Amino acid sequence: MNTTVSYDIHSPLKQYFGYDSFRDPQESIIQNVLDKKDTLVIMPTGGGKSICFQIPAMVMDGVTIVISPLIALMKDQVDGLRANGIEANYYNSSQETSEQEKIITQVVSRELKLLYVAPESLAYLSNILSETYVSCIAIDEAHCISSWGHDFRPGYQQLGFIKKSLPNTPIIALTATADKATRKDILDQLNIPLAHQFVASFDRPNISLEVRPGLDRMHQITRFISTNKEESGIVYCLSRKATEQVAKRLKTAGFDAVAYHAGLSFEERTSVQEGFVYDRTKIVCATVAFGMGIDKSNVRWVIHYNMPKNIEGYYQEIGRAGRDGLPSKAILFHSYADVIQLRKFVEGTSNEEVQIAKLERMKQFSEATSCRRKILLSYFGESRLENCGNCDVCKNPPKFIDGTVLAQKALSTMARVHQKEAIGTLIDVLRGANNSHILEKGLNQVKTFGIGKDVSWAHWQQYIIQMMNQGLAELAFHKNNALELTPIAEQVLFKGRKVELTLPIDKEQNKKKTVLKRTASPEKKSGLFEHLRSIRSSIAKEQGVPAYLVFSDATLKEMEKYIPRTESEMLQISGVGTRKMEVYGDQFIAEIIQYINQNKAAKKDTFMETYKLYAQGLSIDEICEKRNLKSPTVFSHLSKLYLDGKSINLNQFVANDEIIQVKNAKNILGNPPQLKAYFEYFDEELSYSKIRVALTIIEKQEG
Ligand code: ADP
Ligand code: ZN
Repeated sequence: MNTTVSYDIHSPLKQYFGYDSFRDPQESIIQNVLDKKDTLVIMPTGGGKSICFQIPAMVMDGVTIVISPLIALMKDQVDGLRANGIEANYYNSSQETSEQEKIITQVVSRELKLLYVAPESLAYLSNILSETYVSCIAIDEAHCISSWGHDFRPGYQQLGFIKKSLPNTPIIALTATADKATRKDILDQLNIPLAHQFVASFDRPNISLEVRPGLDRMHQITRFISTNKEESGIVYCLSRKATEQVAKRLKTAGFDAVAYHAGLSFEERTSVQEGFVYDRTKIVCATVAFGMGIDKSNVRWVIHYNMPKNIEGYYQEIGRAGRDGLPSKAILFHSYADVIQLRKFVEGTSNEEVQIAKLERMKQFSEATSCRRKILLSYFGESRLENCGNCDVCKNPPKFIDGTVLAQKALSTMARVHQKEAIGTLIDVLRGANNSHILEKGLNQVKTFGIGKDVSWAHWQQYIIQMMNQGLAELAFHKNNALELTPIAEQVLFKGRKVELTLPIDKEQNKKKTVLKRTASPEKKSGLFEHLRSIRSSIAKEQGVPAYLVFSDATLKEMEKYIPRTESEMLQISGVGTRKMEVYGDQFIAEIIQYINQNKAAKKDTFMETYKLYAQGLSIDEICEKRNLKSPTVFSHLSKLYLDGKSINLNQFVANDEIIQVKNAKNILGNPPQLKAYFEYFDEELSYSKIRVALTIIEKQEG
């Protein structure tokens, strides 16, 4: 008996969430649920799983029960729904009986559309666990049911009874874990072997991928964060101790960082989570437990201080960045020591072989010399022909060199110091350093002392790591990290075996060059977006809600781009639904209008002032000096004047191939509103001024 009812699912998407269209394959998933069929959804973190059960919940009669593993986060999820005008609540063991009874009454009187429940509490809901009340059961983070998955939770194990007691109620299970064994296990244990499976693309193109050698990590991290100070990010570490150390060092360096790990009390963990979600704390240094279920859309970067155990974990963790779709960064530090450590962890575990194989794939990813995104996507079963253009390998393709002589120098030095020295000393010997350590040990007597003078310290580091990765040398952890030779090393030293290395990339140099430029960036702390952000922040404070619950960064960026001035224009902004329009719309419209008017008057004069000087034939530098402006500002004036039809020759400021590069970046990045996205895309190599000018020329060309 299968009666098909047709539901309007587009109106609620717009009305409640403010979104214009579904992402692929949300619509087919929702249709499947509405057809009362069991469903398994595999979608990357940030892909948009929640909508897949929230929209059916909105349109069907009765309540959708959402099984979710973390009690601490239920409140946030429910608050998010309520902010959109959706009747939702949660039920768990932290509530008093009277509160729980009230919730049951809400379900019975059909006031609730969604009820979040911890798996352990399900048994107490027997009154309402009937097909009279329940429209659908959604099982979030469904991989928790499987011991194959990487996050097994005993509470999930008993969920198999649901299908038996509610055979006609559709179950929708959702996870970001894609491997086949886990998928099958989920279906078996839930007793839904015939569920339709929907696998969304795992691509998250807005997250740039980067792997760096894991040396001098703290220095690299502080450098990175200091140019991203206002933004939220997570540093994942392998151990509790490391989270605390990293947080402490960041704090000492003046950053707003805290540690998070399973050793903290429940209260402490909740407070860290809340601080992060409410934007009170910018940086959390955490073990992997942190982040699951946190729907914080403006996490701008994720750093892996240590290498993760497997690609699933890595992808899930970096997926916590950029849920709002804006450009975000993932940086992974790859160290040989981590690999050894991780191998030790899995030794002797029940599925050791599987875990070692997964670790091996992770290592291959870290050492890859081809597009990293292609590797990730192929791991999740998606094949791509095109390189992504948004990973470190695509942006700086490795240049291969014959490294045989370099390897011979390093390896023979290793032999001559009797395989007893760690990497730092080895490099000092290679470079002929006369420091006290070398002199005390008499290492300046070694025959190869100074044969590697012509190569910088940092480059030797990277070369030797590459050699280790290629199995030419090994770190002896029990012997003060001394470098030891392997049988392959002997082939290189004595049997003419060739070694291929890649030229190191001078990250630090690039960065140094641009620190100065950055301070002159016109994007910093100005503009409508920043203004709206401060309005949002004061509203959030006043109401005691996380800022993103008011509007997400992506929504504010859209406002900045489209400048909505009426209710109907505001409703066209992605992320503005009916409820948010009612609650916040007028206030934001008023702020926008006021801001624009104030700026218009001031701007018009300043533009004309610049134009007058340009028309008199002054150079950019001269205009800057006369007007006491920075050059990016002058270029933004010229761009505006050019678009307004004034006669200005912009092509003199940017080369043709640079325009083409910017055009490509525009496509790849999805036409982001802020120049910063381009600036970072080009690894800070192309100046803001050039990007601005190129975009203006492109805009004019495209009409
Ligand atoms: P997941 O649970 O898969 O990690 P979420 O359900 O939290 O992801 O969705 C990630 C983000 O994408 C959220 O901010 C959500 O509001 C947004 N989102 C989901 N579907 C759409 C859509 N169709 N259009 C625009 N944004 C969407
Ligand atoms: Zn790539």
